[in-house]
Amino acid sequence: MYDTLIENIGQLILPAEGPLKGDAMKQLEVKENMAIAFHEGKVAWIGTNEEAQKLKASERVDAMEKTVTPGLVDPHTHLVFGGSRENELALKQAGVPYLEILKQGGGILSTVEATRAESEDDLYEKAKQTLEQIAAHGVTTLEAKSGYGLDREAELKQLRVVKRLNEESLLDLVSTFLGPHAIPPEYKGKEEAFLEEMIRLLPEISAEGLAEFTDIFCETGVFTIEQSRRFMKASQELGLQTKIHADEIDPLGGTELAVSMGAASADHLVAASEEGIDNLAEGDTVAVLLPGTTFYLGKDHYAKARKMIDRGAAVALATDFNPGSCVTYNLQMIMSLAALKMKMTPKEIWNSVTVNAAHAIGRGDVAGCLSVGRTADVVLWDVPNYKYIPYHYAANHAKAVWKSGRKVWERRGAHVFSVPQPGQGC
Ligand SMILES: [Zn+2]
Repeated sequence: MYDTLIENIGQLILPAEGPLKGDAMKQLEVKENMAIAFHEGKVAWIGTNEEAQKLKASERVDAMEKTVTPGLVDPHTHLVFGGSRENELALKQAGVPYLEILKQGGGILSTVEATRAESEDDLYEKAKQTLEQIAAHGVTTLEAKSGYGLDREAELKQLRVVKRLNEESLLDLVSTFLGPHAIPPEYKGKEEAFLEEMIRLLPEISAEGLAEFTDIFCETGVFTIEQSRRFMKASQELGLQTKIHADEIDPLGGTELAVSMGAASADHLVAASEEGIDNLAEGDTVAVLLPGTTFYLGKDHYAKARKMIDRGAAVALATDFNPGSCVTYNLQMIMSLAALKMKMTPKEIWNSVTVNAAHAIGRGDVAGCLSVGRTADVVLWDVPNYKYIPYHYAANHAKAVWKSGRKVWERRGAHVFSVPQPGQGC
């Protein structure tokens, strides 16, 4: 007797075990007329719809010939922050440069101020609401960074919120310490001292299990390659794995650094050099691309996903959800941008938001694939096939989402044509 049986599946999408590099990303197993059963949180059976008819299950779900995939994995989010920055939209439209917005106390510094001011409970409540929306969009595992505290107290506060969300929600959150995200006003002109301050936090973060990864913003005017290397080395010495915001604006060589340091991922990479792309193909670092950010910033040049895959790199996609440069947690929207702006194929896109995304955050053995014995993280999509989601952009196509075999979200019917009577429920 299984707990749940999803039958009558039109297409069951089964990414191969990864990380998938280059040509391997172009393959994706798509099986038709299938069924899948879970038991005690794990995938217990996968077979044809015909075979499923003789199985017994506590709950049977009719997929109505729609599409079933592994739960999506979002490997780059800035989930926890205070405040919001909708007022900056008009400034941006008026052509006010970002540095001027920053001077007026806006930009990332206003988020830092709001994050420092909010209590841990308030940050938790806000992120909790967001997390529910993230699950509603088909994501069952995600990474969440700190980086809006920029001092000991507020950085640890953000990390504690992520830890609590991981413990108290059904989703899996992977925590990343991004203390060196920007230079706070009180350290203006004293970048070295600030970096040292962040490095001094590492032993405490490691000892208390507040993060599994560290990350640094390596960019002109923020942190240099040398500073990034030092921070990554200090992290690794304490058993923390590394990530880097690399080559987003200028080709500083953050991609090359990531591969040479054995970083789990190098993220952004819009300006990655030819050599950096070659290094990705040779190394184990996953390229996490964030086309939503390029789109939201109104830029024309996207990361060269096509070249990276064709040369042999492992590519993953993420939202980069944050209050300044990418205000969406809809990974399905990112899948459309990957198709439209980076010329990725639907098969490559699915591999990028499942198996490769899981590898970018050290969850390759538990998330991103479906096979017997693996965690039952599953999404039933209201779409006829896997090509449909990149095509029909910006909608939420998720119909039901299971995390470890438990339903965490389900689309309820709208009442546009039949308003329920009192007591009828909805
Ligand atoms: Zn980011």
